[in-house]
Amino acid sequence: MKDNKIYLPASEIPTSYYNILADLPTPLAMPLNPATKEPISPADLSAIFPEELIMQEMSPERYIKIPEEVLNIYTLSRPTPVIRAFRLEEFLDTPAKIYFKYEGVNPAGSHKTNTAIAQAFYNKRAGIKKLVTETGAGQWGSALSVATNHFGLDLEVFMVKVSFHQKPYRKTMMMLHGATVHASPSDITQSGKAVLEKDPNSPGSLGIAISEAIEIAANNEDTNYSLGSVLNHVMLHQSIIGEEAKKQMAKVDEYPDILIGCSGGGSNFAGLTFPFIHDKLAGNKKDLRIIAVEPASCPSLTKGKFTYDFGDTAGYTPLIKMFTLGHNFIPPKIHAGGLRYHGMAPTVSHLYNENIIEAQNYHQLEVFDAARDFLRAEGILPAPESAHAIKAVFEEAKKCKETGEAKTILFNLSGHGFLDLGAYESYLSNDLEDYELPEELIMRYFAELPVIENDL
Ligand SMILES: *Cc1c(COP(=O)(O)O)cnc(C)c1O
Repeated sequence: MKDNKIYLPASEIPTSYYNILADLPTPLAMPLNPATKEPISPADLSAIFPEELIMQEMSPERYIKIPEEVLNIYTLSRPTPVIRAFRLEEFLDTPAKIYFKYEGVNPAGSHKTNTAIAQAFYNKRAGIKKLVTETGAGQWGSALSVATNHFGLDLEVFMVKVSFHQKPYRKTMMMLHGATVHASPSDITQSGKAVLEKDPNSPGSLGIAISEAIEIAANNEDTNYSLGSVLNHVMLHQSIIGEEAKKQMAKVDEYPDILIGCSGGGSNFAGLTFPFIHDKLAGNKKDLRIIAVEPASCPSLTKGKFTYDFGDTAGYTPLIKMFTLGHNFIPPKIHAGGLRYHGMAPTVSHLYNENIIEAQNYHQLEVFDAARDFLRAEGILPAPESAHAIKAVFEEAKKCKETGEAKTILFNLSGHGFLDLGAYESYLSNDLEDYELPEELIMRYFAELPVIENDL
């Protein structure tokens, strides 16, 4: 039998997070206060975030120690395995060596608990009693509900309305963990009411749900807001994925030629790739290729604009410089594969703008085809989000077949798809169509971007 799994014992779990801010070749653009258009200060964030997370958001330290209490809960599922996809290689008839880091074994089924546990811990230590957040299909909300349950915090979740009704199972998981879940837009916040007045049938969006959650956090002393992606401190916490993977690849004397991750807000992609990008930026691994993969229906990196924009629809967040489709972007209803956020993490955006990483987009039918083939070869049903990475792996493996090169590919299998069977059912019954976001609509969203005079 060929050994296909590379495990790391709990005793070898990385004890520090890697912070890419220490190594960026050019500085990251500062977030701006939307009222003054001046760089924000830590005080601007203290109404909704605890001090330690604000420090991490701006920290110049390359490595930041993971608290003992956080490591303890991580070991429920971490270190997660790296698996060599021998059967997939055979199916693709490729000389490429394909490895994946499997984050689907975490509680709630994805990488999201990596930051949820850290965020709940730092909020608890700051004396906060309740967290409030948004969630799309429910992955982030359910991951955070795992974490708040562990640390004895209350949790209130604004779930995008269309998912609240169409995808009830993650809502059930959140409630089992003790969370309260509202359909967003709701009538319990000003920002929710404003949206409902304009469009009583609004399906909601992540941008709207973020506005609702921030509003509650900003108006309650003992309540903070928590975001599952995009922010620097989220990328930091996710670096545990890549730190583990580096150790695991070294155990089999491998170093990847190509790294691939799907990218919604950028966190699982960053988590796997940033610790390797550290080597590339240090000049050791100049040829390493790093590919972020997104849907053709929500192409923030590949079709978006690199500019200052709000993280939410109501304009409560600081202005952040990122690749964005505009904060008024509403994902097409036909799109089933997740990765729907209008923007992209500033760090990921910055690296893309500097040509350190690449980006690709794919249509949903070819993505679901790849998910099916992966399931049949490896026996794991991927989350539709993760399947975007799988599609890109297929393409790189095909190139290897043409050239005869035995490249080492490592991708992040960010989650399993057992709660996404509804989307797979639509796929099987031919209810999914490809949809490319039309240029004309993108231009309309761009026209509504905030105007920043000093945006160079
Ligand atoms: C949330 C999620 C994503 C997308 O978010 P990122 O911040 O881009 O990682 C990808 N895969 C899975 C399984 C998810 O749950």
